[in-house]
Amino acid sequence: MTSNVDPQEISKFSEGADRWWDPDSDFRPLHDINPTRLAWIDGACSLRGKRVLDVGCGGGLLSEGMAKLGGKVSAIDMSAEALAVARAHAVASAYEIDYQLCAAEAYASQHAGKFNVITCLEMLEHVPDPASVVNACAQLVKPGGQVFFSTINRNPKAYLMAVVGAEYVLRLLARGTHDYAKFIRPAELASFCRDAGLMVDEIIGMRYEPFSRYAELTADTSVNYLLRARRA
Ligand code: SAH
Repeated sequence: MTSNVDPQEISKFSEGADRWWDPDSDFRPLHDINPTRLAWIDGACSLRGKRVLDVGCGGGLLSEGMAKLGGKVSAIDMSAEALAVARAHAVASAYEIDYQLCAAEAYASQHAGKFNVITCLEMLEHVPDPASVVNACAQLVKPGGQVFFSTINRNPKAYLMAVVGAEYVLRLLARGTHDYAKFIRPAELASFCRDAGLMVDEIIGMRYEPFSRYAELTADTSVNYLLRARRA
């Protein structure tokens, strides 16, 4: 089942893939928030020695961060260009990460229950059917394992900050990076998780200050947020 992929979304990420590791490119926000989200994930699951799958890994910022913390990382994406960048960067950094061009649903049919930890960050707002990806993640994780998601809330403030502010005013991101209609409310993501057999342990906001490049976790989930769940 690879129909849950929007080719226009994939080409957006393929076009700029060579800039992925440039911290001053339009991938800058991902660079700036990476240490904060990585610390949150490692604090909750202790990555060292764990089998980890990064779903929608892009150029591998989070995948490499998790490998550096001792995770045995596999990673999938549907952009061949982003994966080429990720593979080349991992070789240069001497990390052994298994990068594969594969959709979450197809990967789940071959690797069900193989992972201690699944991460799927800043990806659900780019797929036609996010509940199907959540379901695939729930199949991929072992019983007792943890799944981490992050995405953008859907409300007027999130529209102003994540679309108008980031793409038009500050020009941090290319125009058209985000489609407001695909943003996901925390209650919706939590319900996708429960429908997939996951128990939601935490929903937490992420505040990002683009001028100072500062990111922190916050109780305010009105724009960017992360969700942590576990398989019973
Ligand atoms: N998770 C990474 C990259 C986020 S950018 C990070 O947070 O640093 C979103 C990524 O999702 C892009 O690399 C894009 O190619 C990928 N993507 C979008 N739709 C996808 C799909 N249906 N299946 C797999 N990857 C997808």
